[in-house]
Amino acid sequence: MQTGKKSQLFLYDTTLRDGTQGEAIHFSLSDKLRIAKRLDEFGIQYIEAGWPGSNPKDFAFFNHLKDLELKQAKIAAFGSTRKAHLGVEEDPQIQLLLQAQSPVVTLFGKSWLFHVLEVLKTTAEENLAMIRDSIKFLKSHGREVIFDAEHFFDGFKADKGYALECIHVAEESGADFIVLCDTNGGSLPWEIGNITAEVLSRCRTPIGIHTHNDGELAVANALVAIEAGALQVQGTINGYGERTGNCNLISVIANLELKMGRRVLPPGKLKELRELSLFIDEIANVRPNPRAPFVGKSAFAHKGGTHVNALQKALNSYEHIDPLAVGNTRRILIGELSGRSNIILKAKELGIVLEENNPNIQRILNKIKELEAKGYEFESAEASFALLLKKTLSPYPPFFNLIEYHVSIRQLPAKNYKVCEATVKLSIRGERIYTVAEGDGPVHALDRALREALAKFYPEISQVRLEDYKVRIVDSKEGTASSIRVWVESTDGKRNWSTVGVSHDIVEASWLALFDSIEYWLLKKTEEQT
Ligand SMILES: [Zn+2]
Repeated sequence: MQTGKKSQLFLYDTTLRDGTQGEAIHFSLSDKLRIAKRLDEFGIQYIEAGWPGSNPKDFAFFNHLKDLELKQAKIAAFGSTRKAHLGVEEDPQIQLLLQAQSPVVTLFGKSWLFHVLEVLKTTAEENLAMIRDSIKFLKSHGREVIFDAEHFFDGFKADKGYALECIHVAEESGADFIVLCDTNGGSLPWEIGNITAEVLSRCRTPIGIHTHNDGELAVANALVAIEAGALQVQGTINGYGERTGNCNLISVIANLELKMGRRVLPPGKLKELRELSLFIDEIANVRPNPRAPFVGKSAFAHKGGTHVNALQKALNSYEHIDPLAVGNTRRILIGELSGRSNIILKAKELGIVLEENNPNIQRILNKIKELEAKGYEFESAEASFALLLKKTLSPYPPFFNLIEYHVSIRQLPAKNYKVCEATVKLSIRGERIYTVAEGDGPVHALDRALREALAKFYPEISQVRLEDYKVRIVDSKEGTASSIRVWVESTDGKRNWSTVGVSHDIVEASWLALFDSIEYWLLKKTEEQT
């Protein structure tokens, strides 16, 4: 049996293979190369790059990988044991695994007798021969061979003897690692722990764990197996994968390093965890999950007044780890539950020192209440909140004044023609500016006209663009008609900020959010210059 605790633990990433089986996850060839490079730099020891036998795109990727210089990671090609009743040399899929020329080959094979008989439609004996021949063949060609025992836990529960026989054959044939897979994701942590421990007591080969998240237990199951002595953990970044996903390596890494005292990354890399998570989401074109443990935007967001009050006294009173350890930040949210502490802490974040007894705090709280009654929400519109704070505490002269704006839509369905036009009249530094712009919709036209009007005075405004735009219908507490809340996220390439506008009319609500966005950017720019 292994003395797991002291041995090195290996991270095995399958974002590029199992991860791409997730709904709506697609990577181009260049995406895959960027991901492989990033995972290597981050310190992941094994990168499963694809299944060369499953499609030509994966095979082509292995050709490109040969030219990719990696610091430390080993590339693995994934494939299955040979076909039933076919010589291993004659199996075209096995041949492609060799041609991929990766130092590691991860072979999956059956270990659940029900699957052998009903899915493969072959015999128990033939399946064992398939495992034996395939591993021996790849070992004889100098590959490091990882054997993924598919459906191992279900197989063990149904027929322990046969499942262990498969492991025994893999070990005898020279597998370097034997990975126990909870392929259907249905096992419970204590089952995983007990079964892993039993396998380890009968096996000298290092054991790995591969779990799926169908019971929302993939991370827990992986950690339990590691605690029992497994030395390799397979998963994907952000838990991408088929159905409800694979084991999320992001959470596994954070738990191992911060809670279990297991070093799996090079020194200093843990701080890049959030960045890695966002990088992969960005390439996959997936909106980051705000509630993702450790790395999500909300993972250290505090809203309740008593929590925030306690945080002021002791930072770790409502946090399980220091957010900086994984590259995340603490956020104080402003909303209905806010108390004076939220305002003080939030102001501090914005560089404003507020004493506990400052009378402005009550004025700010009253203003928030009044705006929230209209349908405003500042939790995710931090830039609008910063403006409100600044304006209440230290009023500054406006950057520009609106004289009027006008939006028109011309629709000619017969000609399949639609044009939106916006005019904006502003006064800036005593000058009157008048601009007209067209756009795909009224908000787009308005945004363009506003930015054109400001371009003469602030040419860098061309770098500012809308990143996201959301519209919600809200019940305002005023009792009359419902209101529309518009939320926009803007970026200047260096930072992102969010603003909000509320009105009974969508164009006005959009205008208010746009106005705040531009004003916030101008304010930040002025602060940077002074
Ligand atoms: Zn899997």
